[in-house]
Amino acid sequence: MKPDDLKPPTCWTLARRAERMNASVIREILKVTERPGLISFAGGLPSPKTFPVDAFAQACAEVLHEDGSGALQYAASEGYGPLREAVANMLPWDVDPAQVLITTGSQQGLDLVAKVLVDSGSRVLVETPTYLGALQAFAPMEPEVVGVAADAEGLDVADLAAKTKGARFVYVLPNFQNPTGRTTSEPRRQALVQTARELGLPIVEDNPYGDLWFDAPPPAPLTARNPQGSIYLGSFSKVLAPGLRLGYVIAPAAITSKLLQAKQAADLHSPSFNQRLVAKVLRDGFLDRHVPTIRALYHAQRDTMLAAMEREMQGMGVNWNVPEGGMFLWARLPRGMDSAALLSKAVEKNVAFVPGAAFYASEPDPRTLRLSFVTASAEQIDIGMKALAAAVRENLPSQAC
Ligand code: PMP
Repeated sequence: MKPDDLKPPTCWTLARRAERMNASVIREILKVTERPGLISFAGGLPSPKTFPVDAFAQACAEVLHEDGSGALQYAASEGYGPLREAVANMLPWDVDPAQVLITTGSQQGLDLVAKVLVDSGSRVLVETPTYLGALQAFAPMEPEVVGVAADAEGLDVADLAAKTKGARFVYVLPNFQNPTGRTTSEPRRQALVQTARELGLPIVEDNPYGDLWFDAPPPAPLTARNPQGSIYLGSFSKVLAPGLRLGYVIAPAAITSKLLQAKQAADLHSPSFNQRLVAKVLRDGFLDRHVPTIRALYHAQRDTMLAAMEREMQGMGVNWNVPEGGMFLWARLPRGMDSAALLSKAVEKNVAFVPGAAFYASEPDPRTLRLSFVTASAEQIDIGMKALAAAVRENLPSQAC
């Protein structure tokens, strides 16, 4: 036996796809936000106040009592039948439960979609800006990710048409988008679906926030208007609890069978115990009683944040939108400021947010930032916004003063 220092070092060669992987900026920031006393507008976490712990405690006992060994056994890759049925019934268009694939969060849905539809170099169209976790899920497949221009009403359809050639799909978040909180308007939805149909462009619609509306429900999903041309991703993370890791994908039959094969390779199936729990909890219209309480809480939280911003950010040239649902608000600093540079100054003052640059496929706008209004308390929002405004004020470039 040679001593260790005489042996050649083991040669690890990373796959090209591994080189494309990178740590989520948000998860890195969340590490900073674990510091005691720091007020975080950074995380994308639902408010723990909304988790229906009692309903799950009861469902747990029932599931174990009724068929404990079934719940703890391996199960079908497609998902638990009664849960697939419940999902099909929840959706506002005609969905056959056989089309519902239960996934390990909608994040897995994004991963499977990329595996099934994207080759190295394939073009994938995304909104500007878009969900960072989707960019992460697509990256290992080595796509050419192309950002499509967007405004407060959603995607710019002319820009979409100009960039469609050779694209495998366009990825869209029509409701209370992460990160901007914006909602695609009804006319824009019509134009988007019509253009996608005319050009034969598949749509991947991601809708984890659609139920969290404040004053009025958003317009019908894109998939409801064009089911054969769309894949729809849904999630239980924001209406029940993210720790369950349960979501679902609805796709045309030929795609579902491929997604299923990809899922078998990924994790065989999503946790059967959790699926049974959710099916049990959903009985008797539970979501119809539960979701309105989440809407009411998040609505009040949004109003608290907007009021704090109006009070604290006056006259500094900071702009922000008014989201009609969901968890996030999108803001833009005055000319000459960079939100990534501001973050360290803000953290010194015990407040954090997510700089917007990470959400762009290319050409990031360094002035943007995402603020979550759902996890901090009303009091923390007031204190945190005062601190954030002070950080902005102290770092305003001289010409913007
Ligand atoms: N899509 C979007 C737009 C999201 O914001 C998230 C979670 N932050 C996900 C998908 C993934 O959610 P989950 O895997 O918990 O269903």
